[in-house]
Amino acid sequence: MPVLGDFEILRVNETAYWWDGGALFGVVPRTLWSRRIPPDELNRIPLAFNCYLIRTGSHTILIETGLGDKRDARERERMRIPAVTESLPAMIAAQGIDPETIDIVVNSHLHWDHCSGNTILRGDAVEPAFPRARYYAPRGEWEHAHERNVRDAVAYIDANYDPLVESGRMTLVEGDYEVLPGIRMRTVPGHTRDMMVVTAESAGETFCFLSDLVPTIAHLPPTWMPAFDLYPLETIANKTKWLGAAAEGNWLCGFGHDSAAFARIAADPKKHFTAVAA
Ligand SMILES: [Zn+2]
Repeated sequence: MPVLGDFEILRVNETAYWWDGGALFGVVPRTLWSRRIPPDELNRIPLAFNCYLIRTGSHTILIETGLGDKRDARERERMRIPAVTESLPAMIAAQGIDPETIDIVVNSHLHWDHCSGNTILRGDAVEPAFPRARYYAPRGEWEHAHERNVRDAVAYIDANYDPLVESGRMTLVEGDYEVLPGIRMRTVPGHTRDMMVVTAESAGETFCFLSDLVPTIAHLPPTWMPAFDLYPLETIANKTKWLGAAAEGNWLCGFGHDSAAFARIAADPKKHFTAVAA
């Protein structure tokens, strides 16, 4: 398992889903983004559901829970997701880690593609997928999900978090929050008002899960962002700030949906930022 200071860190990539490339790049012309990520015949591009596992020695933390089991056959087909996929706990077990040892689950935000593996449907009942874990998510995301805004209500599925909030298993956090010594959630508005990035620091090394602030490495230019972003000017400001810090500190970075597990960031006078293989 790759090492980060005294921690171990691993990406778990559930599968890929295919989503309209134009939606992922907003105002960027197709002629430009399609050179970075070639689309299929329906203009869709592949996106990974990236989850990260961190072992500190005394805790096992899972960041994001991905696809889950709440999308029906038609929706899966529309996204080119196989009809049957392995569950996230099974995928984690296949990497040699007992999913029962996960005692903390963190969601950067509550869009369905980041937290649908939080829970498992059993008939009418909804059960936690990680029974020993305490779950953490941004309070503002949970409140926004319940506002049912016509713009993005479709991105939220209550069964991913409400049963956990009701049973007291999910802590809704505000502002900058230290989950454990060295593991922090920090509010970074842009994609949504309350999305959080997750940082892990150990023995002078820093990992940063950038979530949908930088969904893929192709989104490193500050103005290249999904059409979904609710606050584009804040995305630009926060990308500049966080990627600048990542370049300066030589952080190990993880992205919401890139096929690569990790990259480091270099400041580039022409392109602002470029990725360095990690
Ligand atoms: Zn999102």
